[in-house]
Amino acid sequence: MKQTKITLEENEIPERWYNVVADMPNKPLPPLNPATKEPIGPEALAPLFPMALIEQEVSQERWIPIPEQVRQIYTQWRPTPMYRAYGLEKALDTPAHIYYKYEGVSPAGSHKPNTAVAQAFYNKEEGVKRISTETGAGQWGSALSYACQLFGVGCEVYMVRISYEQKPYRKLMMNTWGAEVIPSPSEQTEAGRKILAEDPNSPGSLGIAISEAVERAATDPDTKYSLGSVLNHVLTHQTVMGQEAIKQMEKAGELPDVVIAPFGGGSNFAGLSFPFLHLNFTQGKNIRCLAVEPTSCPKLTRGVFRYDFGDTIGMTPLIPMYTLGHNFVPAKIHAGGLRYHGAGALVSQLLHDNLIEAEAIDQIESFEAGVLFARAEGIIPAPEANHGVASAIREAKRAKEEGQKRVILFNLCGHGHFDMSAYEAYFAGNLHRHELSQQDVDTAISKIDTPEIPETAA
Ligand SMILES: *Cc1c(COP(=O)(O)O)cnc(C)c1O
Repeated sequence: MKQTKITLEENEIPERWYNVVADMPNKPLPPLNPATKEPIGPEALAPLFPMALIEQEVSQERWIPIPEQVRQIYTQWRPTPMYRAYGLEKALDTPAHIYYKYEGVSPAGSHKPNTAVAQAFYNKEEGVKRISTETGAGQWGSALSYACQLFGVGCEVYMVRISYEQKPYRKLMMNTWGAEVIPSPSEQTEAGRKILAEDPNSPGSLGIAISEAVERAATDPDTKYSLGSVLNHVLTHQTVMGQEAIKQMEKAGELPDVVIAPFGGGSNFAGLSFPFLHLNFTQGKNIRCLAVEPTSCPKLTRGVFRYDFGDTIGMTPLIPMYTLGHNFVPAKIHAGGLRYHGAGALVSQLLHDNLIEAEAIDQIESFEAGVLFARAEGIIPAPEANHGVASAIREAKRAKEEGQKRVILFNLCGHGHFDMSAYEAYFAGNLHRHELSQQDVDTAISKIDTPEIPETAA
């Protein structure tokens, strides 16, 4: 019988996270204080994050041990399966071998609990009573709610008001796991009250929700803040995926030519691809690592590499990143998790140094790919994940045209069970191709007023 599902034993869950900084030829530049433009030290982050996570954020150590309690919780759904996509290969009539790592088996339905559990653990260790965060589509909020509840830590989620109203099931998942979900902008913070005074009917935005969650942590000694992507420690936690995937590819007797993942802030891409980059750095392999973003939010392929804020309002430190500008408002595509103006510092430096690649794919091509995949393989991908599926299909078609075998691995980072309204819109013909004009890109970039990256450093 053909082996479709490649599994690992519980004791093969990684014992450490991989920190790519140790192997990067050019280290990421330090974040800057927006007022002084001087590099910030770890102490500047202390009101927001527990010390253990701040240490990981600035760590140069290659391997970081995973606490036993975190590994124990990982066993609930890890190691996650890898599949050989025989059905999809057949549908495409391609000589390529297509594999995917499936993270939709986690309790929250995506890769996000890999870091949520770790973050809740370290907060608990340092006596934190409550964690505040923001959520757009609800994937991150539900992952953190699940994780906080395991450790008896309170969880306060500022959910963009329009999503709060349109996505009641994600909100109810958070409530079921015991979290308090507040539509943002809210009356509970200075930032929220200010926005509401100007516009009582504000639909909210991720930028506003971040401001509210950060303000709660900054003003309450019992509350810390948590982020689900972008930051170095978040990307590092996600490397359990890539480490497992290397073992699974070994079991399949192959090594990928290309590793593909959708890209929002970089966490699922980094989590799958960084351990393969480690093979490039240390064993002379030449595995392509390809990040896939939506054409409506093309920071990697059409943005600029410079310092920018992580949030819209400008409360965070300045981070060296590929960005379209913190004021850039992407079109309301259904892949909510990919509607972020910037990219994490690690991924940005690697892209700048040509050690990884990026491409942009339109939402129609993404949904076409997602539906083809669901019919060939059974699993219904999240709209974000469809971008990775579409890119894998492009590679498989190219392999066919060139008459070459090619081994493709992609991250099926979440299922789409709570996103069926997006599929409904696609089937009804209500989705449209969406690509920014050069003028849109130029306008967005011309509005960036944050510091440039010095030539010598870049
Ligand atoms: C959050 C999310 C993303 C985008 O975030 P990254 O940090 O880039 O991974 C992509 N897919 C799914 C399913 C998500 O939940």
